[in-house]
Amino acid sequence: MTETETNLYDVVVLGAGPVGENVADRTRAAGLTTAVVESELVGGECSYWACMPSKALLRPVIARADARRLPGLRRAVQGPLDTEAVLARRNWFTGDWTDDGQVDWIKSIGADLYRGHGRLTGPRTVTVGDKVLTARHAVVVATGTRAALPDLPGLAEVRPWTSREATSAQSAPGRLVVVGGGVVATEMATAWQALGSRVTLLVRGKGLLDRMEPFAGELVAAALTEAGADVRTGTSVASVTRTDGTVVVVTDTGERIEADEILFAVGRAPRTDDIGLDTVGLAPGSWLTVDDSLRVTGTDWLYGVGDVNHRALLTHQGKYQARIAGAAIAARAAGTDLPENDPWSAHAATADHASVPQVVFTDPEAAAVGLSLAEAEQAGHRVRAVDVDMSSVAGAGLYAEGYQGRARMVVDLEQEILRGVTFVGPGVGELIHSATVAVAGQVPLARLWHAVPSYPTLSEVWLRLLEAYRDN
Ligand SMILES: Cc1cc2nc3c(=O)[nH]c(=O)nc-3n(C[C@H](O)[C@H](O)[C@H](O)COP(=O)(O)OP(=O)(O)OC[C@H]3O[C@@H](n4cnc5c(N)ncnc54)[C@H](O)[C@@H]3O)c2cc1C
Repeated sequence: MTETETNLYDVVVLGAGPVGENVADRTRAAGLTTAVVESELVGGECSYWACMPSKALLRPVIARADARRLPGLRRAVQGPLDTEAVLARRNWFTGDWTDDGQVDWIKSIGADLYRGHGRLTGPRTVTVGDKVLTARHAVVVATGTRAALPDLPGLAEVRPWTSREATSAQSAPGRLVVVGGGVVATEMATAWQALGSRVTLLVRGKGLLDRMEPFAGELVAAALTEAGADVRTGTSVASVTRTDGTVVVVTDTGERIEADEILFAVGRAPRTDDIGLDTVGLAPGSWLTVDDSLRVTGTDWLYGVGDVNHRALLTHQGKYQARIAGAAIAARAAGTDLPENDPWSAHAATADHASVPQVVFTDPEAAAVGLSLAEAEQAGHRVRAVDVDMSSVAGAGLYAEGYQGRARMVVDLEQEILRGVTFVGPGVGELIHSATVAVAGQVPLARLWHAVPSYPTLSEVWLRLLEAYRDN
């Protein structure tokens, strides 16, 4: 075999995060030769600096909070968390930041792994070091995102934490300032406050989690405050410096806060600035605009899958897209039409536009799917919000003494289906898939009424919600 033949593939996947891995899995399953290019660790941000380590840090925090809400158990869990053990378990989940297991998996599906920074060097061509990989059918960009940092003078010298340091730190800083009010900020504030840091959370807007129903952020802010964190809304950072190890933050209101570390969790930027987009007529650093087969607009061979297309920055959504893109690439490679009529392969807007689920692993958890009331109204739907106190179900009382939580369903009054559902409260993360089924399935409420939840579980909140809708 010549060198050129060695480097000719049906599909070249740039980035081996969860999304790139899943695209490769699908294209290999369809019998297409596939190369995967990875510059860091196979498994991507999710495995090493995002989903897995953050949830490994949070799980003991939430378990302890749950236990403290139970008479008979409360006294047994009064002490502090064993931070060292929590961090050690987190380290285990990341394989101590090694990727041997996932590399073996790439081999097991029959894809070829190329390590190094890959760049497009023209249509259907990716260059990694001295290797040129040519794709017969598709190049898939699945390079994900990195943390975006604000444009503050001298910020680099402060050596701020991003989500990477916040998920991989090997000890708890004494004082931690967290800047941001979204998912990463609230989750990491929850984790590090419980693991021994004194957290000050600086939120520019009026509240936390502003993409969810307002009560989600309110309940999470109240719980963070109760846990000892200092939550300051309507506050942004005017300047930040580091002197002799101490971080000094001055806010726009002139307050001065000292800390040992500062975490900026203020958004994400696409990792497309240095992947040769200019060689194929696209703007470096941009989010990739794709159609519903995840193919980049204006091309017939380039795909943008996962975080990099900005549709929904979540692993489960990126993996959904990977399954759709894999099927589309396979169909086009076989010269057949897109599998529009195959319900297992065709893209469904319900999945990645109208019914995206997300769980925020704070204490209490906040879980939502579909549209909030404000979003549904903005989209022009005629809707009504139905609210229920989670504590109104027997299962909640059993779950925790003094259970605090709230549920909302946003009902489309024309079709009598759900546009969105939000649950906030201990243990609601596992409840969200029932709502996803209802929203994605567009289940009529009169039919949902006959889906009987088990007694005595938190799921009985469905009865309360449907009763509240029917009776008002
Ligand atoms: C702190 C945090 C917690 C999160 N928690 C959750 C959660 O609980 N649940 C959830 O669903 N989502 C969560 N997310 C979001 C989730 O991490 C992302 O949606 C997911 O990682 C996106 O996967 P991806 O494959 O598109 O990109 P990534 O996971 O970012 O993977 C991209 C890969 O491409 C590689 N790469 C980039 N450029 C190149 C190049 N030029 N050449 C070669 N390789 C390259 C990178 O090294 C990386 O391995 C969290 C995010 C953060 C920051």
